[in-house]
Amino acid sequence: MHSSAAPLITRRQALRCFGIAGTALLAASHLRSATPAPASNAPAAPSLSGPQAGYYRFKIGDIEALALQDGGLTPPPDQGPFGVGENPGAVAAALDAALLPTDRLHLAFNVLLVRIGNQLVLIDSGAGANYGPAAGFLPASLANAGVKPEQISAIILTHAHGDHFGGLVNAQTGALNFPNAQIFMSKREHAFWTQTAPDLSGMAVPPDAAKGFAAGAQAVLTAIKPRLQLVAASDKILDGIELLDTPGHTPGHLAVVIGSGRDQLLHFVDAAHHHALSFAHPEWRFAYDTDPALATETRKKLFDRAAADRLRLFGAHMPFPALGRVRKAGSGYDYLAEPFLLG
Ligand SMILES: [Zn+2]
Repeated sequence: MHSSAAPLITRRQALRCFGIAGTALLAASHLRSATPAPASNAPAAPSLSGPQAGYYRFKIGDIEALALQDGGLTPPPDQGPFGVGENPGAVAAALDAALLPTDRLHLAFNVLLVRIGNQLVLIDSGAGANYGPAAGFLPASLANAGVKPEQISAIILTHAHGDHFGGLVNAQTGALNFPNAQIFMSKREHAFWTQTAPDLSGMAVPPDAAKGFAAGAQAVLTAIKPRLQLVAASDKILDGIELLDTPGHTPGHLAVVIGSGRDQLLHFVDAAHHHALSFAHPEWRFAYDTDPALATETRKKLFDRAAADRLRLFGAHMPFPALGRVRKAGSGYDYLAEPFLLG
């Protein structure tokens, strides 16, 4: 019978496996405990917990840019919104094929800020109070980066969904959170949401939820009216910014190309929502697309262009800092995240 205090390896075994150094190691291991006891007067190690900085600096040619975190969601994948109508288990299988956890999705909320000339241009505004404590971190991320809300001169509202317009208006006071910003939005998108009963039958959500989408959009579009400028995608709103008609997720959804010289960034916004699922299965129906077939067509068109031109991408719901590229892979695509670079 072995004593519980018997060494796990004997001196003879240590000698055989590791030579003389091994026996010395074995002897030394008897002299110290597993974790060194701190001196009683040693200062406590600082805690490593706390909020994230929430921003990432990068450049697009000469244009300075910040990727900003607004938060994110981690819904269980079996409750949608991906792969509506697919076989049960298809979403989990696709997550597993991408070596991702199958019990939770990760959907980041990202906002892009660019400095063009003397203008600070924000693309969307985060979720504000619309998604509870999981989101609404844009003001903190901006503050950490040293940017004040009143310094934002323009906002491009890419489409009228709550995770994109929620940061425009203070939910308590009704005041505009970016008081000096001109807000640009697609004429078609605005016309769609401000009609009496927008047709949301293409979305795979209960009718009450669809009504909530419409009511939320109408309230915000009314509140921001004094600062709103409606545009067509072909309109030039600023040098260095091109708007792209990318309908399907919503009727007037805009993507944005930001360019300086040979450097370009395609912000595809909500043309795709998940870095593995939307790329491996661009044909899958997404529950919050108002026209799923058109959304798939737009998604493929954008990805084909981006793959052919090796365009640098930014996505509203990609893993932070949301920069990457796309390449064709079988019947779908691969999303390739850009390394996190300093400087
Ligand atoms: Zn979104």
